[in-house]
Amino acid sequence: MQPVRVLARLLLPVACPCGELDVPWCARCAALLAGPPVRAEHGAPRLDRLDGVPPVPVWALTPYTGPVRDLVVHWKDRGRADLDRLLAPALQRAAARLGPALSPALSFALPSALRGAPVAVVPVPSTGAARRARGRDPVAVLARAVAHGLRDAGLPARVVPALARRGSARDQVGLGARARGRNLTGTVRMTRRGMRALEQRSVCVLVDDVLTTGATLAAAERTLERHGHDVIGATVLAATPPPARVERVKVGALSGPAENLANT
Ligand SMILES: [Zn+2]
Repeated sequence: MQPVRVLARLLLPVACPCGELDVPWCARCAALLAGPPVRAEHGAPRLDRLDGVPPVPVWALTPYTGPVRDLVVHWKDRGRADLDRLLAPALQRAAARLGPALSPALSFALPSALRGAPVAVVPVPSTGAARRARGRDPVAVLARAVAHGLRDAGLPARVVPALARRGSARDQVGLGARARGRNLTGTVRMTRRGMRALEQRSVCVLVDDVLTTGATLAAAERTLERHGHDVIGATVLAATPPPARVERVKVGALSGPAENLANT
């Protein structure tokens, strides 16, 4: 190999986050994002609203396991913004497939849908500290991809960065489920821009990178609802699989799932 090329490889090593060399991402990792999106809300205990209303439908492109974890971690926190070019088109294709699933919910969400108002694609806000550390907001990239995908499916859609985080939640330890819900709801607020951009009773689709417990997604949903908007669904890149039923039976644990998971 020519010395120049050897030097270039030493300076700029290219590798898929899974370790495969000489490609920015490999075919195996890309195949994990090929979909179709699957419903994931039942694996997220904190999406439980405790008011008898079923949790908001969440569609995930893929389980948050193995190589997908590596992809997301490198993309978000290790400077691999170039993975936008893999992840955004994958989520766009997934959102395009959601058109038929979202349409019935849209027809119930009156009156803005009847007026033909676009679906507001709302990124779930990251903390200011996370945004500063990353120098950008990866979820905004995903939100644009989802809006594209919904438009591909014939639904008018636009990104509205309507939400922001309000500092960190107080320690959740020792709080009952209801108090915990109130505590977390307080961590997401409407932005001025959101209040200006969203019409009365807008139809919203939330977008996030990874669904874990659903706490932040639930806070985002409630904040929009409190301001009179309808959240008809959410789309995420990946979702933590629910705790394996088999395993819980095996260890004889009868308590509720994932009580000790982090509030992400
Ligand atoms: Zn790979």
